[in-house]
Amino acid sequence: MEFEVKSPGTRSELLSAIIKTRTGFRFGAGYTDLIPELRKNGSPVRTIINLARLNDKRFTAITVTKRGIRIGALVTAARLADDPTIREYLPVLAQATSDMASPQIRQVATIGGNLCTASPAGDGACALMALEAECELLNSRNQARTITLASFFLGPRKTALERDELLQSVFVPANSGVRLFSGFIKVGTRRSMECSVVSLAYHVQTDSSGNVVHSGIAIGSAAPVIRFAHSACSLLLGKNLETMTVQDAGRFAQNVLEHASPISDLRASAWYRRQVLFNISKALFSERQGAAETNGSYEGKAHELH
Ligand SMILES: Cc1cc2nc3c(=O)[nH]c(=O)nc-3n(C[C@H](O)[C@H](O)[C@H](O)COP(=O)(O)OP(=O)(O)OC[C@H]3O[C@@H](n4cnc5c(N)ncnc54)[C@H](O)[C@@H]3O)c2cc1C
Repeated sequence: MEFEVKSPGTRSELLSAIIKTRTGFRFGAGYTDLIPELRKNGSPVRTIINLARLNDKRFTAITVTKRGIRIGALVTAARLADDPTIREYLPVLAQATSDMASPQIRQVATIGGNLCTASPAGDGACALMALEAECELLNSRNQARTITLASFFLGPRKTALERDELLQSVFVPANSGVRLFSGFIKVGTRRSMECSVVSLAYHVQTDSSGNVVHSGIAIGSAAPVIRFAHSACSLLLGKNLETMTVQDAGRFAQNVLEHASPISDLRASAWYRRQVLFNISKALFSERQGAAETNGSYEGKAHELH
């Protein structure tokens, strides 16, 4: 593979590189998805616009405002996993990125790359779906537009990005509850360096008495795209997490399953994926009550907000 590589350092160099590159080009950030993809498909791409040298806070910073948290597209998985703000306010994202791939890959793999690959198995993407993130896109004329993550994914490996657009950052609205029950469950055939067979991201916010005021539930590797489980979120609204029964947990799991339409592939059958998804969803709340069923694989934690 031979490419011309353009490495803009500033926003204006980036925009000019996009405008001047007339033949097919691709953006590259950590290259952990892009290089394997180009090798596999023998792509006709001749130019790579390398984002790794870009020095622009919109792309590289984690910024906290009253409205929420903005995460630049070039922030790496390792940084998200270690960042104190992410760990405190968005534990689902910290957990999803800390379980991704291997330490070496996490050092370079960016959250923007994870989203733009649009894999149904993307771990960071699944967490951000549960967080109801918005994508901030930038085009070559320096115009920005914002769309929801749900509308960003058009299909497996297909996004709503136009030819001259790239992902600048993602924005996660501020938590509205005072306590969080937030985490990420990844079921794979081994513990690391493995795409999920099924994943479940949950970010449930309660008032000080434990009543759910807002929740986000997303499923990965269970449909052509990562899905937000609307009906499961509606079911939780107003429920008290401390008094949920095993029957409530079963109804919740059934609602999560309604959003799944998995395929059978080398890693698992559709039947197995549905069974696992039901079991991990049910265990999420029945384990909180000390009920008998356990699967031992989840590490959900409650977090106090300040
Ligand atoms: C061995 C191995 C294990 C892995 N394990 C996991 C895992 O457990 N979980 C998981 O979720 N992923 C896993 N991955 C996939 C990969 O590491 C992640 O998806 C990673 O976050 C991709 O980020 P990147 O910066 O390397 O993207 P790149 O490879 O640089 O880019 C990926 C795609 O996004 C586009 N792109 C990148 N940035 C932008 C941008 N800002 N705007 C527009 N387009 C952009 C590129 O053109 C390309 O199409 C694994 C990969 C490998 C090789």
